[in-house]
Amino acid sequence: MREVALLLGRQGSGKGTVGRIVDRGAPLRFLSAGELLRAEARGGTERGRRIEVALSNGDQVAPEESYPLIGQAIERMGEGGLLLDGCPRRRNEVALVKRMLGGEPALVIELYLPLPLALARMLVRVTCRECEAPYGPKVQPAEGGRCTECGGVVEQRADDTFERMSRRLSVWDVEGRRIIRYYEGATTVARIDATRAPDVVAAEVRDHLYAALGAG
Ligand SMILES: [Zn+2]
Repeated sequence: MREVALLLGRQGSGKGTVGRIVDRGAPLRFLSAGELLRAEARGGTERGRRIEVALSNGDQVAPEESYPLIGQAIERMGEGGLLLDGCPRRRNEVALVKRMLGGEPALVIELYLPLPLALARMLVRVTCRECEAPYGPKVQPAEGGRCTECGGVVEQRADDTFERMSRRLSVWDVEGRRIIRYYEGATTVARIDATRAPDVVAAEVRDHLYAALGAG
């Protein structure tokens, strides 16, 4: 089984961007539960259609739909260090995460970004419809608004409306604090200042991962 670190933080704190940078430069893999769910929804399986309904209503995907998918994806990734983003989303899911991983995560990393900054970032972020590569004012897509990684269409995520963003942010404000308080009593928690450039944040995340997972 893989050694797993969780990447937590409010929406807009750069988890996807930072996770992709970490994945690129290290013998560690990054898995985004949110991307996994959205890919399943696009795939049109029966489970995908149920996930699609939840996502398009702005609801949370039910844990009985999401956790089997995440667990299977982790198994497919084999051995070695893994950085997992997107779960738990609520305090009552920490037991599901523990069961799925066969124990507590070796490390929990919190990307900390103040609320007004998170909202401002979410309002301007766009992603590739195919591979979910993130773009924004500082990282522009290729000419014609195409993804530089896969050529897909770059657009605002469907769930990034102001209303849905505010709702997701307020859920995290309550649940995120409770989740992190739980992990402070269960494993190592590293809090990282996410107001800085993604490369700087990713380098610090990588240092913590090497120290905790012994990858190198
Ligand atoms: Zn792409």
